[in-house]
Amino acid sequence: MSSLFHPDVAAMRAKIARLAGMLYERRLLDAAGGNLSARVGDVICMTSRYSGSKYQWNIRPDQVLVVDNTGKILEGEGGISREAKVHLKLLNEFPDGGSVIHAHAPNVLVFAALNQPIPAVLEQTQKFGPIQCVPFAPAHSQDLAENVAAAIRGQEERIKKQAAAVIMPWHGLFLIGKDLDAAYDAVERIDGQARIVIMANLMKLAGMNTLSDEQAMYQAALAAYEGVKH
Ligand SMILES: [Zn+2]
Repeated sequence: MSSLFHPDVAAMRAKIARLAGMLYERRLLDAAGGNLSARVGDVICMTSRYSGSKYQWNIRPDQVLVVDNTGKILEGEGGISREAKVHLKLLNEFPDGGSVIHAHAPNVLVFAALNQPIPAVLEQTQKFGPIQCVPFAPAHSQDLAENVAAAIRGQEERIKKQAAAVIMPWHGLFLIGKDLDAAYDAVERIDGQARIVIMANLMKLAGMNTLSDEQAMYQAALAAYEGVKH
């Protein structure tokens, strides 16, 4: 396949195709939806519509679209994703963010179905803070893009560090990372964290310590460590 674009664009399309397949294999994406995008210079590489439902995320690099910042397709096979509005809104508004992922990650979906935030409970997820739910707007709407962007505003430092994420109630996860590696890593960490919170609440039923007991102990241990160090 020939490309009119810089070789970095071809490399990014190949990487998006590979990571999308990995996310599906790892059950972080499902056949029903999800999408990945990343900025390269002044173009955006983005998975196309039906990548899950018709291709089960087994996509070729030329099925990853190259679009401009308005979503106009410049190259690639397939139609624009129905959630492209959110990707474009985030990539246009937050210059430190280089990549956006939307996923129906199964453990996050429990919190989405309950319209509840996911607390940060491990060292590796403190940097994201609690993952908050945005006000409801239907899938594929411009209002959804506005609500997601509004909830990311104020989290720019998290994007610089790794990623900022939100839950769309009754739908799924949206996050923007400083680059594609950071965004991929954040999807894994946040779904893993959601699983821990679910499992820990089941453990509470079995008489184990609660998450709030353990979070207080974590904060105390951290403060004691800092006290010894200084
Ligand atoms: Zn979706």
